[in-house]
Amino acid sequence: MRAVNFFDLNQAQLTAFLVDAGHKPFRAKQLMKWVYHQEISDFSAMTDLSKAMRAWLAESVSFDLPEVVHRAESTDGTVKWVVRVGGGNCVEMVLIPDRSEARDRNTLCVSSQVGCMLDCTFCSTGKQGFDGNLSTADIIGQVVIANRFLAGRGEAVTNIVFMGMGEPLLNFEPVMTATDLLMDDFAFGISKRRVTISTAGVVPAIRNMIGRTDASLAISLHAPNDPLRSQLVPLNKKYPIDELMSVCGDYIVSLGERRSLTIEYTLMRGVNDDLAHAEELATLLRDVRCKINLIPFNPFPGSGFERPSMNRVRRFQTALMQRGFSTMLRTTRGDDIDAACGQLVGRVQDRTQRQARYKEQIRAGGTAAGRRLLPVEELAS
Ligand code: SAH
Repeated sequence: MRAVNFFDLNQAQLTAFLVDAGHKPFRAKQLMKWVYHQEISDFSAMTDLSKAMRAWLAESVSFDLPEVVHRAESTDGTVKWVVRVGGGNCVEMVLIPDRSEARDRNTLCVSSQVGCMLDCTFCSTGKQGFDGNLSTADIIGQVVIANRFLAGRGEAVTNIVFMGMGEPLLNFEPVMTATDLLMDDFAFGISKRRVTISTAGVVPAIRNMIGRTDASLAISLHAPNDPLRSQLVPLNKKYPIDELMSVCGDYIVSLGERRSLTIEYTLMRGVNDDLAHAEELATLLRDVRCKINLIPFNPFPGSGFERPSMNRVRRFQTALMQRGFSTMLRTTRGDDIDAACGQLVGRVQDRTQRQARYKEQIRAGGTAAGRRLLPVEELAS
C-alpha cells in the first residue's frame, strides 16, 4: 500500500509531503507539471528528477482514479459516466458541451458525495439516502476521466460545477482541496469564474469559504420565502433565507471584485412558479449582486412534482428580466440518457433507509421506480 494518492493533494499539501521526506519544495511544481500538464504518471519518464527520488516516488505515490462502470452519450452531445469511487460506491458525472451563441464550453458536473443527506423533496439523489463522502482524488478523478475522453477531440473541460450528487459543503475539506487543484495553474488552471460550488445553503460552511477559496458560488434557492423553502429544502429550517443571503453577501464581498452569486431556482408547476413568486423573488434579491438560473423541474418517477408549461416558465423569466435581473433558462440536456439535473439515479447503498421508504411510497402509489443503466460496452457502440 503506497502512502499517498497523488490526486488527493493540492500544491501546498504535496509540497509539505515532499519536504517531510527531505526533498526540495520546488519539486512539487515539477511533479504537478508532469502529471497534470504532460499527463505523465510514470516516474521513470520524469527525467528532471534524480533516480533516487524517482525510486522513492514509485514506492510512495499512487495515481488511483475512479473506475468507469458505465458511459452513455446523448444525441445532444451530453455524456454521462457512472464511476466507482474509493469506497466502492458508484456516483455519476455529466459532461455538457455547449457550442451555442459562439460559446465553446465543456462543462463538467461533478459529484461530491455518494447520495445526499439533505433530502430536498424534488431531488432524486435525495431519495437515495447517503453513503459517504468522496475524497479529493475521487472528485479530481472525475475531471481526469472527462479530460481523457475529450483529449481525443483535442478539447478539455473548461467549466466545473459541483451540481452532481451530494452537498459539496457537507464534504468541505475534500471539496476545497479539489477546488484548489482545479484553479491551480500547475494543475487544471481553470479560472475561478468557471468553477462553481452549488449549495442548498450550509451557512457555516459558506462562512468558512471566506478567505479559503475564491471559487464561484451558486445557491439552490427555489423559493422566495421561508415557509415554502422549508418545504422544498428542509435545510432551510436550520438556516433560513435571511441568514443565507447575509452570508452569501459576505462571501461575494470577500472576493473583492465584480463577482456575482448564482441563484438556482427549479420551477415546479403550481408550487413556486406563479408571477407572485417571481415578484417576491425580485424583492428578496433586490440588493443582491446575482444572476438567476431557472431550471424547469426534471421529473422522475414518483416525485410528486411536475414541470410547468413553457409559457409559464417564460412568463416567470420575463417578470424577473423586467425587474432587471440577468436570468438564464437552463435547457434540459441529456434527457435520453437520464443525465438531466436531479436525475442522477445511481446505486447508492443507503445507510439511512431513506431509499427503502421512498421505494415503498412509490410502490403504494403504483409508480415505477429506478432506471436501468446500460453497461459501457453496450453504450459505446
Ligand atoms: N447539493 C447541491 C447540488 C445539488 S444538484 C445544491 O443543493 O445546490 C444541483 C441543482 O439541481 C440544485 O439546484 C438542485 O436543487 C437542482 N435539482 C435537483 N433535483 C432537480 C430536479 N428534479 N429538477 C430540476 N432541478 C433539480
